[in-house]
Amino acid sequence: MNQQPRFAPIPFVDVAAQRRRLGARIDAAIARVLAHCQFIMGPEVAALEEKLAAFCGARHALGCASGTDALLLALMAKGIGPGDAVICPAFTFCATAEAVALVGATPVFADVDAATFNLDPTALEAALAAARRAGLTPKAVMTVDLFGLPAAYDAIAPIAAAHGLVVIADAAQSFGAVYHDRRVGTLAPLTTTSFFPSKPLSCYGDGGAVFTDDDDLAALMRSIRIHGQGADKYDNVRIGINGRLDTIQAAVLIEKLEIFADELAAREAIARRYDAALRDVAVVPRLPEGLTGVWALYTIRLPAGARDRVMAALAAQGIPTGVYYPKPLHRQGAYRHYPVAGNGLPVTDRLADEVLSLPMHAYLDEATQDRIVAALRAALNSV
Ligand SMILES: *Cc1c(COP(=O)(O)O)cnc(C)c1O
Repeated sequence: MNQQPRFAPIPFVDVAAQRRRLGARIDAAIARVLAHCQFIMGPEVAALEEKLAAFCGARHALGCASGTDALLLALMAKGIGPGDAVICPAFTFCATAEAVALVGATPVFADVDAATFNLDPTALEAALAAARRAGLTPKAVMTVDLFGLPAAYDAIAPIAAAHGLVVIADAAQSFGAVYHDRRVGTLAPLTTTSFFPSKPLSCYGDGGAVFTDDDDLAALMRSIRIHGQGADKYDNVRIGINGRLDTIQAAVLIEKLEIFADELAAREAIARRYDAALRDVAVVPRLPEGLTGVWALYTIRLPAGARDRVMAALAAQGIPTGVYYPKPLHRQGAYRHYPVAGNGLPVTDRLADEVLSLPMHAYLDEATQDRIVAALRAALNSV
């Protein structure tokens, strides 16, 4: 006998809802690639690059194979390698520091701001000191626009400039966000993003992009992206990677970019509804003046110790939640030997115990959101 679930399960990110909206357009876009068979660097890649650059106002956009490769391209283009330090947060997805380690440089972890979850500009000096104590030359600050909210670029840029550091923005979660009338992609000399399926602008597999206004860096990254090619593909002038974006993924992204602004507006409305419904029972995200996020994740903070029970209560009602990130990088086996700024990362450690992300995507309807809110409020009131 079939057991009826008491509650229909809710998806955390509803990829299928967007697919229904786009309908046959993506099928047709993929079919066009299947017809012309230029699977590698086909015309859709350059077309997408032009549209991405126009969307954010950057001079150059380069498609690449993933957000991780985008970071590698940026680091390699700046010649960052062994003996160099790159300051980055530990409260992020591992790829941020992984790319630094892959080029042979050393990630140095700095603490984040509790209100924005992003790199704390006042923690940079301590990170620089930790890098120098370890005998390293600080070369870059890698900001992360966590959960889709731009980092404190105006505060970080002058500190970076004073120390000769390049700012590399890991905007894997924030493409589309606005910072004082400028879009992500133009807030740092190099900006990287990811089109992994759970990111706000995503493809149907792996993909990423790098943005810059610098012609020389763009040319360098175009070469590095294809095995360090020179005049042609059998002329190799530097060490590179196989970092291209597939033509099929570019074709998918062109269609999705058409509705992206509309989806961002829907995400914003959903975030505002969560704020209003939850601000009296949890710490809801607080955005600095003049910034808009893209809500890659909608993340609240709960009293320490309440989270496991709340998650279990919601899961019992078919409501998925997530913890991003339960174990910060400076506590991960692969990264714990790298230098840490100051006397540890107390804010990062606290956030790892308190954060909880709720279902968030552009197609979350009000009835479903109300069900999530009601369940969360009930769970918190009984903790
Ligand atoms: C997703 C993500 C990446 C990596 O992107 P991939 O496309 O999965 O390689 C890097 N940094 C951050 C902060 C991310 O969220």
